[in-house]
Amino acid sequence: MAGRKFLLMFPPALADQPITQRLWRDFDITVNILKAEIDESGGRLTIELGGKPEEISRAIEFLIASKVRVEELRNYVRRDMKKCTDCGMCVSICPVKAYVMNPSDHHVVFHLERCVACGNCLDACPPGALSRGRSSDI
Ligand code: SF4
Ligand code: SF4
Repeated sequence: MAGRKFLLMFPPALADQPITQRLWRDFDITVNILKAEIDESGGRLTIELGGKPEEISRAIEFLIASKVRVEELRNYVRRDMKKCTDCGMCVSICPVKAYVMNPSDHHVVFHLERCVACGNCLDACPPGALSRGRSSDI
């Protein structure tokens, strides 16, 4: 079963702290790092957590108590079907194949559950059909 995806935002003072390692060590969950970025403004980590819901909640509480900003990724990208022309640009730009061209009808199918919130597709859509969707701050 697919886990729950979260975007973790670390302020610069926490970017080099071993907070993520404690998720493996202190909680009975699986942690899959999907994307990691670090620069002078801090760190951004996209992770997928698997395990019992209560154990995931405990891990999230720990992150928040550690001053990490946590956002659950449920609807990172929203596609406006009225604007989409099925041009296929997003198919070639998405690193995790969240967009797939259906060969039988040439419509682009969007598998939102595959999205790792890289943001690549948001500015790449020629008619501007893709935008940042709603996600929930925790
Ligand atoms: S890039 Fe935009 S218009 Fe082209 S298939 Fe993807 S969502 Fe549709
Ligand atoms: S944000 Fe990145 S991973 Fe998500 S659908 Fe767009 S290109 Fe794919």
